[in-house]
Amino acid sequence: MDMTILNRYFNTAYNTAPFSKIKTEDYLPAFKIGIKNAKAEITAIVNNKDTPTFKNTIEALDYSGKELDRISSIFFNLNSAETNEDIQNIAQEVSPLLSEFSNDITLNEDLFKRVKAVYDLKSTLELTTEQETLLDKKYKGFSRNGANLTKDKKERLRTIDKESSQLKLKFGEHILAETNKFEMYLTDESDLSGLPDGAKEAAKQLAEARGKDGWLITLDYPSYIPFMTYADNRELREQLSKAFGSKGFKNDELDNQDIVLRIAKLRFERAQLLGYKTHAHFVLEERMAETPEKVKTFLNELLAKAKPAADEEFKKLEGFAKDLHGIDQLQKWDSAYYSEKLKQKLFSLDDEQLKPYFKLENVIDGVFTVAKKLFGLQFEEIDTIDKYHEDVMTYKVTDDGGLIAIFYADFFPRSGKRNGAWMTSYKPQMIKDGHNHRPHVSIVCNFTKPTKSKPSLLTFNEVTTLFHEFGHALHGILANTTYPSLSGTSVYWDFVELPSQILENWCYEEETLKLFAKHYKTGEVIPMELIEKIKASSTFHEGMQTLRQISFGLLDMSWHGVDPSGINDVKTYEAEAFSGTNLYPDVAENCMSTSFAHIFQGGYSSGYYSYKWAEVLDADAFEYFKEEGIFSKTVADKFKTYILSQGGTENPMTMYKKFRGQEPKPEALLRRAGLLK
Ligand SMILES: [Zn+2]
Repeated sequence: MDMTILNRYFNTAYNTAPFSKIKTEDYLPAFKIGIKNAKAEITAIVNNKDTPTFKNTIEALDYSGKELDRISSIFFNLNSAETNEDIQNIAQEVSPLLSEFSNDITLNEDLFKRVKAVYDLKSTLELTTEQETLLDKKYKGFSRNGANLTKDKKERLRTIDKESSQLKLKFGEHILAETNKFEMYLTDESDLSGLPDGAKEAAKQLAEARGKDGWLITLDYPSYIPFMTYADNRELREQLSKAFGSKGFKNDELDNQDIVLRIAKLRFERAQLLGYKTHAHFVLEERMAETPEKVKTFLNELLAKAKPAADEEFKKLEGFAKDLHGIDQLQKWDSAYYSEKLKQKLFSLDDEQLKPYFKLENVIDGVFTVAKKLFGLQFEEIDTIDKYHEDVMTYKVTDDGGLIAIFYADFFPRSGKRNGAWMTSYKPQMIKDGHNHRPHVSIVCNFTKPTKSKPSLLTFNEVTTLFHEFGHALHGILANTTYPSLSGTSVYWDFVELPSQILENWCYEEETLKLFAKHYKTGEVIPMELIEKIKASSTFHEGMQTLRQISFGLLDMSWHGVDPSGINDVKTYEAEAFSGTNLYPDVAENCMSTSFAHIFQGGYSSGYYSYKWAEVLDADAFEYFKEEGIFSKTVADKFKTYILSQGGTENPMTMYKKFRGQEPKPEALLRRAGLLK
């Protein structure tokens, strides 16, 4: 087993991933060798007899482990896009090895001593901005994990981390069990009135799968959402909505109230141990928003603008429901149902009308044309490099100066590919020893496959998804930094969606659509009247939706931006946080926090605001394009120079100001959303 896959990396065209040569059984030994070599590189840094310098410590650390990174990226990308049981088993085996290795680094006291020695001399070192950023990042990677603490406090930190991760798991297990436990069996077909055929069919199959007659509705989204949106039976909607909203809130063995309180308190204690005022202060130190005060101001400013619009939309919806069905008091379980009915009445826009204008090949051409007009990029399909599946398309990306990147695109669903759409990379960009290593970037989607009689025709939502992921890809493709850990999409969390979301804006512009949105049979350009409808329906109920997002952001901040030791009752506390954002009457038996997985199970604590933050950024940045022309070379050049090529080399607010000339303002978003008249 000496001939590892590592050796094969160096003799492929463009140094691309050698998919066809890698056998599944190669991975584990390759991982082990990769880890061993990476460890040796770390040891060499630690044992260096010379005084710690930026170059021999910080830079050396950032360039270390690159073999391991390549194996990991190939392996885990395949585990998402083309997996099987063997790969999943290897993932199980290899994940603990990798986390052990990364702990070995963060907890390595001798390594930290060297990093700190360099960090303490920072002001005397004459570093470039990028180098300063890298030094901060490396230092904080240790200090934020307790490297500066005394032995006792370090131990307390480990105990907190352990308990927190167990509680997070338990929180998730409870929600899953609650979701799986609930079943709404319907035996009278009239109870399904209003549901589209597809949803009915799915409900029948669910029942059949459990050996029952009739129809089964569950709390899983594909079952829950259509029922809440279309089912005419109001009592059943109420029943389902209350079941959904009371997950983890029944004072039984699956209750999450104590877990929520405990997690909030542990997070606060951890932050204090590390010298931060609250958990939110700790998290936001590494975000563009920087402080909880700034996040709260941001959310409250949006709230002031969105509330009047939301109130007005709500009033109209109430009137509509009263006229239609004599509803006196609109309840939470009426929201999706009457919104859908009203939307149909106002727009009657359905996917089938639009799809003929969005043949996949045309949309790909469109997105490439946009990239060419803005950034001078050329995409040329090549067949000289390996693919992991025959559906994958491969491109060479060039500009006037030569090769910029390799680009993979994988569009269709198949077993072995997970749901959704994402961008990823097989090889990072970096400049080392004077050589600019160009990146290998990939996007993976799940669009409708072509059939014998019909090409792949995308829904409008799929079109914006493609532009979105392509925006992330451009962030990778145009990366031009020295250090790999600051390259491309390695930016603060609340900044990473700017390149992707801004690109979606081009989909709504006539100037762009004329380039590619042509009927697949007749070649006719999409009629302007349809484009107007798309635009209008995309901001339907924007006020209420904004209000909802703001309420979640405020709830998140209220759990994490304070000292939680005085909080005793989850529901009471939550009600306070929601008090400025309510539209519907409260439902006593429901609670949001006990199933708010984003912040108590996933990684979004003190980060829920980022959804709206990113929208403010992309709307404000796109407005600059609109001012100068959406294909303005000047603005595009600035966007490339100050944002897309810079990765995380500098504070994002500084970069943004260089691009825009000022800090982002919410007005552009409010205008786009129709909330500013
Ligand atoms: Zn994204």
